[in-house]
Parts: sequence; structure tokens; C-alpha cells
Amino acid sequence: MSGREVFLSPHPDDAVWSCGIELLGVAAAGARPLVVTVFDGDAALPGEGWRRVATPALRRAENAAALAQIGADALSLGLVDAALRTVGGAPIYADAQALRGPLATADRALPVVIAARLAAVVHAGDRLHVPAGGAGAHVDHRVVRLAAAGIAAPQRHYPDFPYAPRRHPAAADAVEPWIAAAALYRSQAVGLFGNRAALAAALRAWNGDSDVTAPRR
Ligand SMILES: [Zn+2]
Repeated sequence: MSGREVFLSPHPDDAVWSCGIELLGVAAAGARPLVVTVFDGDAALPGEGWRRVATPALRRAENAAALAQIGADALSLGLVDAALRTVGGAPIYADAQALRGPLATADRALPVVIAARLAAVVHAGDRLHVPAGGAGAHVDHRVVRLAAAGIAAPQRHYPDFPYAPRRHPAAADAVEPWIAAAALYRSQAVGLFGNRAALAAALRAWNGDSDVTAPRR
């Protein structure tokens, strides 16, 4: 039995926004990639503004629709997004900037918890696609990378949008199906970028398309 291509998605849009081209490539080759979404569970904290631009239920529904369109299998781990995690009823991260800062004390056990969940999912021969989770990336991306480091499987670190400066440029004919699938995360496109056209422009720039202005960093 050959192994699967398993994509770890911290949030319900990450695998498709960052790796949609690779997911579509696996599906086009006749296999079904598996997308494991980690932080997509319901939260006790209602959240508003930067903490939550859509309910976890809506985000799970958008994820299911996008992965079905791509032809990927989906698995939810159902943990709570960092912006909505609490300890003693109080949010762990005080503001949006804190999500890009050090791992909170209350979160220190999370990588081990997630690694144990992943170990039950990953088979021998599977290959993991893991968010790069570099310095300044969302804390949930860094936690998933730490968790994956505890799994005995071959792994590739993928540039994670929008934290990594850019992806490896893909050919134009691969870009359009990716953009179409990415747009199915409508709540996040509107909440984070203003509208779906702006998300599409950001993804094209991130792919290094020459006819758009790429963000400099
Ligand atoms: Zn994310």
C-alpha cells in the first residue's frame, strides 16, 4: 500500500490557500490527498472583531465545500483557535499582535497533545506537508510545526500564506483552479481581505505573478 499525501492545516483555510496547487496536483494524479484541520473546533468564547470573523461552524462548512471541490479527504481535529482559547474563562492571547509572539504558557502542552492525535492518523508510508510556521507566523502554525516534529514520517515544510514571503511560483494554468477553490472560504476572504477579488490578487502576488504588485518584506 502506497502512502498518502497528508496536509496539515492549522485553520480551515490554510491548506487550500497555501497548498491548493499541490492538493489539486495530487488529485489530478488520481489520488485523494488527506487534509487534517487542527484548530477548527467550537469555542466557549463568543469572540468578535479580530478574534473571530466567522463562526467555527461556518468555517468548517467552507472547508468541507472547498476540499470536496478539490477531491481531498478531510479530517477535523476540532481544537480551538488561539484567538478563542481561554484559561479560567479569560482569553490566553490579549490582542492580535500577541498571536504572532511567544507561545503562551497555557499552550506549552499543545504540541504534544496534537502529536498524539496525529500519530493515530498517520500511517507508515504517508508523507506530511507541514506549515513552515516561521518566526512571526500565527502561533497555531508554529504549534502545528512543533507537533509534526514529534511524528515519525517524512515531511515537507510548505510556505504558509500569508506569513511566508511567497510560494514557489506555479504555472498560470495551475493558478486558476487554486484561486477558485480558495474563494470558497468566503468569510475569511471578506473578513481578512475585504472581498474575494482582493484575496485572489494577494494569492497571485504571493505566487510571484508578474502582472501584480507583490508585497515587499
Ligand atoms: Zn492559519
